[in-house]
Amino acid sequence: MAMPGAVIRGQRSLLRQIREAVQRGGPAQERLDMVVRIIARSMVAEVCSLYMRRAGGEMELFATEGLAPDAVHLTRMRPGEGLVGEIMRLGRPLNLADAPNHPAFSYRPETGEDPYHAFLGVPLLRGGRAIGVLVVQNRTERVYTEDEVEDLQIIAMVLAEMVAGELISEDELSGVEITPHRPERIKGARFADGLALGVAVLHEPPVAPSQLLADDVVAEEARLKTAIVALQAQIDEMLEGQHGLVEASYEVLETYRMFAHDRGWNRSLEDAVRNGLTAEAAVERVRSEHRARLGQARDPYLRERLHDFEDLADRLLRHLAGDGHVARNLPDDAILIARNLGPADLLEYDRTKLKGLLLEEGSPASHAAIVARALDIPCVGRLTGLRDRVSEGDPVIVDAETGEAYLRPRPDVLQAISSRIEVRAQRRAEFARLRDTPAFTRDGVKVTLLMNAGLDVDLETLAETGAEGIGLFRTEFQFMVAEELPRFNAQTALYSRVLDAAGGMPVTFRTLDLGGDKVLPYLEAEREENPALGWRAIRMGLDRPALLRLQLRALIAAARGRPLRIMFPLVASVDEFRAARALVDHEVAWAQRRGRAAPARLDVGAMIEAPALIWHLDALLPMTDFVSVGTNDLLQYLFAADRGNARMADRYDPLSPPALRALAQIQAACEETGTPVSVCGEMAGRPLEAFTLVALGFERLSMPPAGIGPVKQMVLSCDREAARRGVMALIKGSAGSVRNEIETLARKLYLSV
Ligand code: PEP
Ligand code: MG
Repeated sequence: MAMPGAVIRGQRSLLRQIREAVQRGGPAQERLDMVVRIIARSMVAEVCSLYMRRAGGEMELFATEGLAPDAVHLTRMRPGEGLVGEIMRLGRPLNLADAPNHPAFSYRPETGEDPYHAFLGVPLLRGGRAIGVLVVQNRTERVYTEDEVEDLQIIAMVLAEMVAGELISEDELSGVEITPHRPERIKGARFADGLALGVAVLHEPPVAPSQLLADDVVAEEARLKTAIVALQAQIDEMLEGQHGLVEASYEVLETYRMFAHDRGWNRSLEDAVRNGLTAEAAVERVRSEHRARLGQARDPYLRERLHDFEDLADRLLRHLAGDGHVARNLPDDAILIARNLGPADLLEYDRTKLKGLLLEEGSPASHAAIVARALDIPCVGRLTGLRDRVSEGDPVIVDAETGEAYLRPRPDVLQAISSRIEVRAQRRAEFARLRDTPAFTRDGVKVTLLMNAGLDVDLETLAETGAEGIGLFRTEFQFMVAEELPRFNAQTALYSRVLDAAGGMPVTFRTLDLGGDKVLPYLEAEREENPALGWRAIRMGLDRPALLRLQLRALIAAARGRPLRIMFPLVASVDEFRAARALVDHEVAWAQRRGRAAPARLDVGAMIEAPALIWHLDALLPMTDFVSVGTNDLLQYLFAADRGNARMADRYDPLSPPALRALAQIQAACEETGTPVSVCGEMAGRPLEAFTLVALGFERLSMPPAGIGPVKQMVLSCDREAARRGVMALIKGSAGSVRNEIETLARKLYLSV
């Protein structure tokens, strides 16, 4: 029996035959017909067909050996339709003994494919994007061998490069979409507010190998070996801390090192080169394989490993190109395009040139989104299929007001966005002018506007915004962007810098709020059925007090005799607060016993995020020095609606009687006991919501930096008494949402919301 794997390995000439067929000149159709004939013969297949993606996304039969010739250019599959659509969607091979029995099979009578059962299809990948599908079929039911799958993948890769390269022009393949060129709009989710216009820069852009077939296999094997050795040496050196090139932690580098020395990886590369590919093509080939295998994984750990392999593949390509360095030059108006970003990736780019960020995956709580917000870089995420639709250098728009990306926008869209950018700039200038104006309502109520922060970069914005302090410092951010657990000294250093930057203005440090959607890659955590309701925040802190105590110790050390405000997240019972407070007292006493300065003044507070506390405020408030309402969590628990789930995002309105009555009740209880209270959830930073909070009686609002200007403008135009009367009447009603009514009220009061 013929062994196709052996055939290819025995005759590297197959790839050469294909190349010659493509190079021989003449009409593209003839050349492709010849190519599928050659492949069918060498794979001992009765059918070999080539499908290419058209600009509209449809897959068209472009050439076939074995199926009805009349079906060529006639048979088309819509995106996702049939087995071909399935291969495009998955980006990996499908190997079926009996194709007609597969649920995705779509029968096309014009092709005459009835008698064929065995089916093997592989995507034509180019720069990670599927541009077509290559299929072989046989009558007899059988599963193709691993060697056969691998051979067809190599052929598909060579073919993809030939079709996309100079050999066959796009004109000849009229309508085939090698690179997308139509204007497109993709809907995603808002991660960091703003608007930006610029050119696409692909994060870790795939380097397309210029030559696929090696002229001299032995020499190529030697090249690959040299590059792998250089890569391993570079990583070993980084690990030994000799180089100072990368500040990444030991653990991350250790993982790299493991992969770089991974025999499986090296062997796959060597095999591919032995089969006739250049070293670069071999790297791409193995990369595609990993992508296909790990890219489907739901397990976040496995997906992260894919990231490691991708990074390693890029490094190896750089070594093969004779350049081991990572630095990149950005155009002046770069919009970074990435699947997702690692903890420090974004910070490595030149901030002055980076205008926006588009992500295929991620969540608003992802590292990249957090850093983007801190740096004030507009960011839209969850853009499905983004990387398939955009090429380096394409003009793109980040519309983080609506959560959309425009690729290669039409001139009228460009015009409209440019004027919106201008309006935003003017508004920003107005807010900047208000920076030093204190926020008094027209009837003389002082509203204290504070900023939410969590990273060093936030400190720069503190002065710019005119915030009167930091109402919520999310200490877990330092832990989330680090690649290993920040030690005592690192924590103390950050808290000191924050207090120094605040220059005497109050800073409320919230203790670690981990768990839920904030997981640390380096901390082993048990999988929970329901993480938002699980072992998180203060619960973790009290059960494993060592981490919390270390943090409290660092906070006390950083204060060095200055005033200190500490707040606990997700307190759900008075007992929890009592226990947490006792830990603070214990740590202060410990510091004093060692002759260290106690804080000049110590305020300890609780976040009100768990609804249960609303009915126990009479017990809680006397124990606290202040409280802060975390509306993000409070509303998620009130409405039983996951705050990170895009489907829930507009389902329940914070401006609704139940939510506002809960807030009014908290405010009233605090007023009665004289407990200082603030609101620090995202709603405090949106003018209409902030107006409602002021109307309910809240006088301290803490928000993302970008909210301060607009909210201040609202406060300055507000008559609190009139607002209070209006809102209090509205929340008595039976409507599901009173947003429209509050908006009408705000307009009647001539408010800037
Ligand atoms: C909140 O829940 O409203 C809050 C401010 O905390 P975080 O968003 O960090 O959970
Ligand atoms: Mg919270």
